[in-house]
Amino acid sequence: MKNGASVTVLGARGSVPVSGPDFMGYGGATVCVLARLAGQAVVLDAGTGLLELPRLLEDEERRIPLLLSHPHADHLLGLPLCPLLLQPGFRVDIYAARRHGLDAEGQVRALLSPPLWPVGPHQLPFPPAFHDLPPRLELGPVTVESMEGVHPGGVSLLRLTGGGRRVVFVTDCTITDSLLPALKEFARDCDLLLVDGQYSDDEWPTRAGFGHNTWTAAARLGRDCGAKRVLVIHHDPAHTDCQLDAAAEELRRIHPDCAFARAGEEVLL
Ligand SMILES: [Zn+2]
Ligand SMILES: [Zn+2]
Repeated sequence: MKNGASVTVLGARGSVPVSGPDFMGYGGATVCVLARLAGQAVVLDAGTGLLELPRLLEDEERRIPLLLSHPHADHLLGLPLCPLLLQPGFRVDIYAARRHGLDAEGQVRALLSPPLWPVGPHQLPFPPAFHDLPPRLELGPVTVESMEGVHPGGVSLLRLTGGGRRVVFVTDCTITDSLLPALKEFARDCDLLLVDGQYSDDEWPTRAGFGHNTWTAAARLGRDCGAKRVLVIHHDPAHTDCQLDAAAEELRRIHPDCAFARAGEEVLL
């Protein structure tokens, strides 16, 4: 698939990683996605799924852009032991919008420094390079555009376009009435929409302020923006494989090609 278009879900869990027999189907690793468009690999978020990345890279994929939606811990937890920063031969470029007065390096340093971690990012054997995420960024043949979402502390929603394909990444964002029109345009007619749908409709009343969505709202966004395919991400740590399997039909009733993302799943676009 070197010159093709694909998306591989490395981690689909939200909030904290989970493990155990109840989570084998959808996976316990937190959010991390590998997108390949026009032969260019781009990594979205650095949850614990990032640890799976090296075995998926082609020999010539040595310079890896990593785009961070926001600096909550579940989206950074893969960085301290990211194999690409511990072994020679790679260059990782981390892009993030400024948040809480911190640039990309400051956000990563908040997790990668004592007392939370013994060393800072520049003490890693092969440190990443840090960059501000501009509204529009060219990564070889891939154009990255971002818009601001609705989440405590803010979040960058990301749109990747290249080789005639478009992938939109909407994690950790509540689809509010005021955001919806702009979000539908942002995701309009994309080939794949990855969208936060952490909660069931029943759970929503006690979780509405947490910065996420119901999975039915996620599926409706996919339907209403004309996404060809929809993967719901950021699964709640309490939701077992059985619960997500049981809810899958709710998604398909809204959009025929909408499903809960599974870690390890590759989608060809
Ligand atoms: Zn999250
Ligand atoms: Zn978050």
